[in-house]
Amino acid sequence: MASKKNYNVVVLGAGAAGLFCAIEAGKKGRSVLLIDHAKRAGEKIRISGGGRCNFTNMHTTHKNFLSNNPHFCKSALKQFDHWSFIDFVQKHGIAHHEKTLGQLFCDGKSTQIVDMLLDEAKAAEVEIALETSVNDVNRTEHGFTVQLDTSSVKCQSFVVACGGKSIPKMGATGFGYQLASNFGHSQVETRAGLVPLTFTDGLLERCKELAGLSVDAVVTFGKARFREGLLFTHRGLSGPSILQISSYWREGQEIEIDLAPDVDVTELLLTTKKTNGKAEVATTVAKHLPKRLAEQLITLVDCQGRLADQQDKHLRQLGDMVNRWHVLPAGTEGYRTAEVTLGGVNTNELSSKTMESKLVPGLFFIGEVVDVTGHLGGFNFQWAWSSGWVAGQHV
Ligand SMILES: Cc1cc2nc3c(=O)[nH]c(=O)nc-3n(C[C@H](O)[C@H](O)[C@H](O)COP(=O)(O)OP(=O)(O)OC[C@H]3O[C@@H](n4cnc5c(N)ncnc54)[C@H](O)[C@@H]3O)c2cc1C
Repeated sequence: MASKKNYNVVVLGAGAAGLFCAIEAGKKGRSVLLIDHAKRAGEKIRISGGGRCNFTNMHTTHKNFLSNNPHFCKSALKQFDHWSFIDFVQKHGIAHHEKTLGQLFCDGKSTQIVDMLLDEAKAAEVEIALETSVNDVNRTEHGFTVQLDTSSVKCQSFVVACGGKSIPKMGATGFGYQLASNFGHSQVETRAGLVPLTFTDGLLERCKELAGLSVDAVVTFGKARFREGLLFTHRGLSGPSILQISSYWREGQEIEIDLAPDVDVTELLLTTKKTNGKAEVATTVAKHLPKRLAEQLITLVDCQGRLADQQDKHLRQLGDMVNRWHVLPAGTEGYRTAEVTLGGVNTNELSSKTMESKLVPGLFFIGEVVDVTGHLGGFNFQWAWSSGWVAGQHV
């Protein structure tokens, strides 16, 4: 329930972007109402990064983001960069570490980040209305009327920060997209991103048999290429490299997987055949791949036994399977498990400097609802902080 009838700013969505924007606006002396239909603020922060919140990435640049306009995110990322957020975290004494590839995680629980934001919001006198739904938002002469369940509030600036469609169980609604189109904004088609890929038939059976096994792999789709872990699961393929490529992958097209990126397996097999023909194929391949995986691939190309007994063409086939495995995903696990939603509010109609709508003065869009989606690794939170911060300076 809102305590007043009039606010300078109403922010819809108390996630990472909404909280950060509300804090900044409050610090600038604006009266702010932050609304969320969930029981608690910052729920995705709480569950993020396996409970330790990968809150930013030391190597953040615009190249870590997908968008129809790849330059759009540059201004916000420059105005409030990853160092700015790291300063914020350090100021609050939250211990953290770099896990890998520049990814910064809390040493302790991710709730430390939520508590930090709630403390800042309190200090900035932000009013938070939880378990509150917005039914409609209308323009008035001087701003907006926000229709709540049993009352309405007025504001000069309205900020849409209600995220994407990922994980409906956690309160994701897609309401932000509806509001955007009510105000005449166009959208880039939304898709599930950072999501496991699913398979059917023979490949699914193979994945099931290997479920739980992980390897360091390079996964490629078109020009996108990621070297990170790959995990076999009962539904298909997952792990960081697969989640990353899922944001680029398009239905009906193959991805290429290199299961042993540091070794040319064809060359290894042909050379070892010459120098040590008595060596078993399985033993040779298993020096570079988990044994269970090596055995399965060898069965597939039917070259069990000693290297000397194999035709070169079969060894080449096996090498291709390891270094250039082409697989056709049947689909993704969808919004049910996707970490993010690709696409969203068209950036052509927003100011990249302020996140304000070019169509409706006083209306702002920040965070995941905008057509800016980060790679895995802390980039999505950095976008939430950066876009929230810049909007907070201008609402
Ligand atoms: C399992 C998981 C792990 C993740 N881990 C990481 C990580 O470690 N690092 C990283 O950078 N990113 C991570 N992400 C992605 C990251 O959580 C999101 O990109 C980020 O939370 C987006 O912030 P946001 O504020 O735009 O939206 P959200 O955090 O989704 O917040 C939107 C808020 O709006 C509220 N809301 C929605 N609809 C309505 C409505 N109709 N009325 C009222 N309120 C509404 C929701 O309840 C929610 O509180 C993860 C995502 C998931 C799902």
